[in-house]
Amino acid sequence: MISFDLKCAKGHVFEAWFASSRGFERDAKAGRVECPMCGATKVEKALMAPNIATSRGGEAAAPVAVPDPAIERRAEAFRMIRELQSRIEREFDHVGERFAEEARKIHYGEVDKRAIYGSATPAESEALKDEGIEYGQIPWLPRHDS
Ligand SMILES: [Zn+2]
Repeated sequence: MISFDLKCAKGHVFEAWFASSRGFERDAKAGRVECPMCGATKVEKALMAPNIATSRGGEAAAPVAVPDPAIERRAEAFRMIRELQSRIEREFDHVGERFAEEARKIHYGEVDKRAIYGSATPAESEALKDEGIEYGQIPWLPRHDS
């Protein structure tokens, strides 16, 4: 499962879950993705959720929290994501948009193994999956503390 922040033509932003990024493209094109606020079916991705890679050849270095879409569990899910996010920021190396490239280098042993996090496009995520490179994916929340 993968979540996307979506935006309708009127600018409403909402979150929706799909089996894959291809699943989203297909549903959106077919008009099956509806804005919960105004019912518009013309939606686009607002933001891609970032990926995290793991330090030891695919073994999860950090538990990846997947939020339950049920609203009553959102607060708890958000708290877990924030905790995880803080831990990742502390312990992982931020590689930004070079995530796919770095994950590949680590996977093929071109560089020392280390925990990284960053973002990847849906195409890059698919390619990593095809190559058997494992990574976790979590929704990335904007930070308010400073
Ligand atoms: Zn809308």
